[in-house]
Amino acid sequence: MRVSVFGATGSIGESTFDLLRRRDDIRTVALTGGRNVTRLAEQARELRAELAVTAHDDCYPALKDALAGSGIEVAAGTEALIAAAERPADWVMSAIVGAAGLVPGFRALAQGATLALANKESLVTAGPLLMRETARHSARILPVDSEHSAVFQALVGEDIAAVERVIITASGGPFRGWSKDRLAKATLAQAQTHPNWAMGQRITIDSASMFNKALELIETREYFGLEPAQIEAVVHPQSIIHALVGFRDGALMAHMGAPDMRHAIGYALNWPERSELPVARLDLAQLGQLSFEAPDPDRFPALRLAREVMELRGHAGAAFNAAKEVALDQFIAGRIGFLDMAALVERTIDSLLSDSGLTSPVESLESVMAMDQMAREVAGRFAAAMA
Ligand code: NDP
Repeated sequence: MRVSVFGATGSIGESTFDLLRRRDDIRTVALTGGRNVTRLAEQARELRAELAVTAHDDCYPALKDALAGSGIEVAAGTEALIAAAERPADWVMSAIVGAAGLVPGFRALAQGATLALANKESLVTAGPLLMRETARHSARILPVDSEHSAVFQALVGEDIAAVERVIITASGGPFRGWSKDRLAKATLAQAQTHPNWAMGQRITIDSASMFNKALELIETREYFGLEPAQIEAVVHPQSIIHALVGFRDGALMAHMGAPDMRHAIGYALNWPERSELPVARLDLAQLGQLSFEAPDPDRFPALRLAREVMELRGHAGAAFNAAKEVALDQFIAGRIGFLDMAALVERTIDSLLSDSGLTSPVESLESVMAMDQMAREVAGRFAAAMA
């Protein structure tokens, strides 16, 4: 099987690498990264990749040096990333963080690949387009987000018309029991510490603010074609159940597993087979109890905003994600507070309500990018006023 990994040096990328290096039936086409060229070069050598690409032009000399004498092709920049996605591969991991992951995923689908989709921003910003592209090229998307992989697995052999609801779980993050006053003062160090999952910095902070769950609610709607009212989130601090599917006969099928992304990645890699994976097995007696609680949309407004975005449809997902990325950058830079992130996203969406583009159907990548750009500008202006 020919594989490519986009975002190979990140958290999902490393878990993917760990599974790939255990296989002897894999031919690695392309590996891509950002600034961590040392690690990218190590991975490329170990997997004997044809091509290694850094997203940044200024990182090209370092990558070239690190791969000197290896016979591995080296390239840099956005166009090189897209060209890498156009190289024929059977299985492509989409694990770049943020909206930057959108175009490479599209190009991989256009050559008929199976896209293992970790980059949730792709479905949030351009869901209808992505699903259309998949059908047009007889390609396939396999969800890698643990919740969506769980739903996908619970649906094997089932009729989607028999689904009453889907419940995705949220750990509640590090601030689960915190008051609004405390949340307002939450620091970057506190926000980037997740109780259960080891993930990249951005998704970890998004988990603390519940923007990650908000993106996942939208992702669920886009991937499974459900109505917003059919999709729920519940706080489950142990992160053992990843999602549940409720059917019209009242049955609720839960997917359980240790919080280890190699589970969902491995499922997508081995699909439609199930093969052994190096993940911990659950000891239920030792776990003892699993608990659940309703999320609080007052302390975590991201969930309420996600509902609005799902109702608005059109380009609202692209605007929401772009504003969220700006807000996150501002919080990481120490310019705005933790709760200001949701306020900034809400102001941005509210101000774009008068723009007819917000709710117009998603027809092209260009219109998605235009809304992304517009929302970044609006959010940037509000952020400057807030800082
Ligand atoms: P990381 O931040 O750990 O890794 C991101 C990867 O993307 C790195 O390889 C990074 O390169 C690269 N990258 C960063 N910016 C750019 C850019 N502008 N252009 C091209 N490449 C870039 O992220 P995660 O692995 O945590 O997350 C990746 C995606 O998967 C996200 O969409 C996230 O929401 C999703 N996801 C992650 C989960 C997790 O457990 N981590 C779970 C479910 C979904 P470098 O580091 O070399 O600069």
